[in-house]
Amino acid sequence: MVAGHIGDPVTRLRFLKAVTPRDQWDGARRGPWRAFFHYLLLAIVPLTLIAAFLVMRAAARVPATEAWKPPASVAHRVPAPASALPEIWMVEKDKTEEVFSNGLHIDTRFTVSNHPRSYLAFPVNGPASRAVRRSVPVGIVFHTTESLQIPFEANQNRALKRIGESLLEYVGGRCSYHYLIDRFGRVFRVVAEQDAANHAGYSVWADDQYRYLNLNESFLGVSFEARTEKGETDAHLSPAQISSAAMLTDLLRGRYRIPVTNCVTHLQVSVNPDSMRVGYHTDWASGFPFEQVGLPDNYALALPSVMAFGFVCDHAVREAAGPRLLAAIEQAEGAFDRRAEAAGMRPLVYRNTLQREYRTLLTQVKAAQHEVRDGIDGDGGQ
Ligand SMILES: [Zn+2]
Repeated sequence: MVAGHIGDPVTRLRFLKAVTPRDQWDGARRGPWRAFFHYLLLAIVPLTLIAAFLVMRAAARVPATEAWKPPASVAHRVPAPASALPEIWMVEKDKTEEVFSNGLHIDTRFTVSNHPRSYLAFPVNGPASRAVRRSVPVGIVFHTTESLQIPFEANQNRALKRIGESLLEYVGGRCSYHYLIDRFGRVFRVVAEQDAANHAGYSVWADDQYRYLNLNESFLGVSFEARTEKGETDAHLSPAQISSAAMLTDLLRGRYRIPVTNCVTHLQVSVNPDSMRVGYHTDWASGFPFEQVGLPDNYALALPSVMAFGFVCDHAVREAAGPRLLAAIEQAEGAFDRRAEAAGMRPLVYRNTLQREYRTLLTQVKAAQHEVRDGIDGDGGQ
């Protein structure tokens, strides 16, 4: 141990005193100037430490950003923007798999088609009439399959494989996700990327430019073969699953220029339009390993459903949410109250206004989806 590792000034002083030879410590015996400098030094060290402590405490008190500004509200390490990600290219491809330069293998044997992707993006500060139709994915929603789990042990290998295969069959038949990462970390493409998948249901997200509703069409769905056990809040992933998710996320972000703040979990986007509550689906309410898959801690993002559309977080969502998400919910609710006040409306009236706006956009989204299905407007646009 050395004195430089001791944080507490008093302990440090005692440590210095203990390790310093008695004749040096007791400087008064060795001449007045030397004693003066000696005590000066001993005074400076603790004062510097105290000053550093006060500065750090003041910095920690800086209030979080109130408005919906994704990049600024992410307090942790902000990874490179999609445009700056290292290039990942396809090394080779055959009838069964694609191999990429970052080590990612995608098994394509079970890929199914669904209808082509097409969605409306609503400008953050514009009227519903200014919506633009697009067909390029803008984000990723992470899921768990909540399917049967047996012990991840060598003697269970045959059963683990069998369960994984029947899961693939099940999610393929329902076009449930774009990607499934099984318990061995193998990545399967379930629904083709250019098609929509039925992964997000009623859902809401927003970035600094657009608001998105019903993310089956606009976001890619990536699911882990995992389950949140009763009484636990986090699903357990294997290191292989996390490593594959990081490579897949980098590939998709680079390919579609997806901003980090549009890579979120199902609970963060899921809403129930009947009850106007957040979190109809609760997978990854907490514990998603954002940083390990190369993303900032996006649990810190204020929920657009609350801020922009007046959805409510009930007791069940608060129970399920981890501390970071809970703080973000409270931040969004505080901002909602302040916005109501700024608009000169009582919270209830302001909430009704936002919820009406949501219903207007939802009607428009549903009409647009019917148009596409009926082939009236099939070009998809950008
Ligand atoms: Zn889900």
